[in-house]
Amino acid sequence: MGARAGIVVTGTEVLTGRVVDRNGPWLAERLRELGVDVGRTVVVGDRRTDLAAALRFQLADHDLVLTSGGLGPTADDLTAEVVAQVQGRTLRLDADLAEQIGRRTADPDAARKQALVPEGATVLPPIGTAPGLVVPGPGAPVVVLPGPPGELQPMWPSALATDAVRAVLARAEELRQAEVRIWGPREPELAALLRAHEQAHGSLADAGLEVTTCVRDGELEVVTRYRPGAAEAYERLHQALRDGFGPQVYADDGRDLDEVVAGLLLARRATIATAESCTAGLLAGRLADRAGSSAYLAGGFVTYANAAKTTELGVPAGLVEQHGAVSQEVAEAMARGARERLGTTIGVGVTGIAGPGGGSAEKPVGLVHLAVAADDGTHHRELRLRGDRSVVRRRTVVAALHLVRTVLERPGTMEG
Ligand code: ATP
Ligand code: MG
Repeated sequence: MGARAGIVVTGTEVLTGRVVDRNGPWLAERLRELGVDVGRTVVVGDRRTDLAAALRFQLADHDLVLTSGGLGPTADDLTAEVVAQVQGRTLRLDADLAEQIGRRTADPDAARKQALVPEGATVLPPIGTAPGLVVPGPGAPVVVLPGPPGELQPMWPSALATDAVRAVLARAEELRQAEVRIWGPREPELAALLRAHEQAHGSLADAGLEVTTCVRDGELEVVTRYRPGAAEAYERLHQALRDGFGPQVYADDGRDLDEVVAGLLLARRATIATAESCTAGLLAGRLADRAGSSAYLAGGFVTYANAAKTTELGVPAGLVEQHGAVSQEVAEAMARGARERLGTTIGVGVTGIAGPGGGSAEKPVGLVHLAVAADDGTHHRELRLRGDRSVVRRRTVVAALHLVRTVLERPGTMEG
């Protein structure tokens, strides 16, 4: 048994990359939580023939097909019409729906267009003006949802409540997803560990584990999907990762780096201040991404110029002259300055050469000095990063958060 779904994301703006697809991944994750495996997501522009072909392709081997976008009143909004055609149903004007939409829009023609419903379809009440549809077919049903994520997401529960979708969900089986996050080792080391594990225990796929490894900003992420029957095989893999990488496995309960750091700051009742040169606020911005960050984030200094490091943080001008702005000494002085000026438990200093210019033989592009000042002194890391300016700056933020994490993880320190 089991149930599989296919997704068709429509919109020339998504096809061309002007808008990043937020609906395909969102729907895939909701379906995974319900035990429905997503086989494919296909992105098509607002063209009748491409949309029809994508629908047929997805209907051929899926139990459920979902579409996003193209439900609006304009001429490039074709989804209801093409889905009706592919499912072999004629469009009928739903007078009640036309009236309902009419009350929300000043354009009667638009209301009439959006109230055309394929015969036998269930209408999902509009969140904006566009109603959604569940259109049965000879084969799999098609769930038609609006494009704006702010409309698609609140409409999702009413799609799940329809008989056609419930019949598919009744065949679904729990599909678990476990995430292990690792900081330190490189991808080849992970590949070697997985190979050795397969040599000892047999193929992961044969054991029912679908393992995806992903490298992101220097972190390794191992995401495994499995049915409950493969739980034991997963536990073996999980144990092998912990045995192989030890404390480099920094999260294995689904939490990400930001959640781990926030959890440590809260548990230690610690506060944090940043002093950033090459990242110019990215670290403070990332710390502030989480709701409730005011409990620990006191503030940050963007000190790009040497003079700003001196006036804002009290970094001695002579120190910059002697060691250069990108040096361990200056990173440490920045961290101490931020900690002292804002009276926080810890201060973070970041200085580096993001490139593409400004490097030298001695201090190449990608050289970064990080420091964390705490009650027991300063902790320092030197990084040698590769990649363009935005890669260097992003990776620096991740490495700084890991340095903060390791300082906070020291046993017996800074308990509140
Ligand atoms: P509307 O009535 O707003 O036209 P619609 O169902 O016709 O609704 P679209 O025209 O396809 O939706 O898209 C409207 C807007 O919604 C897009 O311009 C885009 O900003 C956003 N959007 C659409 N699809 C996606 C997507 N897959 N991911 C993120 N945003 C999207
Ligand atoms: Mg539209």
